[in-house]
Amino acid sequence: MRDWLKEFKLHGAIWLHCGDPRAPHALLTSGLHSDGFVNTTAVTCRPELIEGILKSPDGLGPHLEEARGADWVIGSAMGAITLAHSAASVLRCRSGFTEKDGDRMTLARFHTLPGEKVLLVEDVITTGGSTLKTFDAVAGTGAEILPFLLALVNRSGRERLHAGKPERDRDGGISIEIRALITLDIKTWRPDECPLCKNGSASLRPKACWEELVSWNK
Ligand SMILES: [Zn+2]
Repeated sequence: MRDWLKEFKLHGAIWLHCGDPRAPHALLTSGLHSDGFVNTTAVTCRPELIEGILKSPDGLGPHLEEARGADWVIGSAMGAITLAHSAASVLRCRSGFTEKDGDRMTLARFHTLPGEKVLLVEDVITTGGSTLKTFDAVAGTGAEILPFLLALVNRSGRERLHAGKPERDRDGGISIEIRALITLDIKTWRPDECPLCKNGSASLRPKACWEELVSWNK
């Protein structure tokens, strides 16, 4: 069985704090401190790896097969564009992506039709916010969204996303199952509340200090 977490770590797509209080931790671009770091572009830039993930029986292969018959695979820009394209290539269907438009996501360049089946994909689900906006953009066209989505990494702490506005559905919307290759429990803190800082660990920019961060995991 392939150890996907190990492969993602080797490619620099995931770093996790080793637990040693002396080991440095991550300073994110948001200014928050964290015991982990995810950069999926380090794997989505490798088409052969993504193809392996999408076809492998111990990867996302069986889940993607369940989506066979879909007319579209759609992800959100920019992170999920190539993943959607690779998944659509396996399913022999079309791929598209949603883009930011102010506070929402919009399906600006693609036109899904009422009744067409759509599989949603994401590179990483952090809060699920952009995925839900993508859901709204696609659902607004009348297309039928499959009840599960595929993700490379789920760090949201959730197994399902609840989509759809309550006013459209008296039951409170639609529940979509998250099927991820890798599920992580990564914590973030405001600097003044960071327990790792309190223990004397230094906070480092992951991309700039990658070698130092990974040196503690060997
Ligand atoms: Zn800290």
